[in-house]
Amino acid sequence: MTLEDLYREVIMDHYRRPRNRGTLGEANVVMEGVNPLCGDEIKLWLNIDDAGVITGASFDGHGCSISQSSASIMTEAVIGKPLADAHTVIADFRGMMLEGEAPDELLLGDGVALEGVRKFPVRIKCAVLSWNTLKLGLDEHAAGGGQRVELQHSET
Ligand code: ZN
Repeated sequence: MTLEDLYREVIMDHYRRPRNRGTLGEANVVMEGVNPLCGDEIKLWLNIDDAGVITGASFDGHGCSISQSSASIMTEAVIGKPLADAHTVIADFRGMMLEGEAPDELLLGDGVALEGVRKFPVRIKCAVLSWNTLKLGLDEHAAGGGQRVELQHSET
């Protein structure tokens, strides 16, 4: 089994058995993201506590396997993390996908499996959709001083 096969398995596993799928009742950040190019849609729920820790994250949506598995992987990567650490993870993933930077495997976990998507530039937006949506939600949450956030994001 090549590394590429292994990564494909990881992506399909998250697609078939998504982690943290479904609504999060006590969410204080609710975001919707769409990627019109591919028809991907995701909804994200986050619970950020008063200490600035992401205590819960979940998603729902439909679209291609890359978009949905990436959202599943993303929730696993940020749950339990302080906001500063979550931003570090987001920056690492986006750096890998958008700039071709070497990922930090410990930080990204299964996220490294999506690196191969770079070979198909039209699919990169599928992979970054949930991460870009999350980043906007966190930025808005910070800008609003921790107020409840609801927003929509569209990849263009
Ligand atoms: Zn897609």
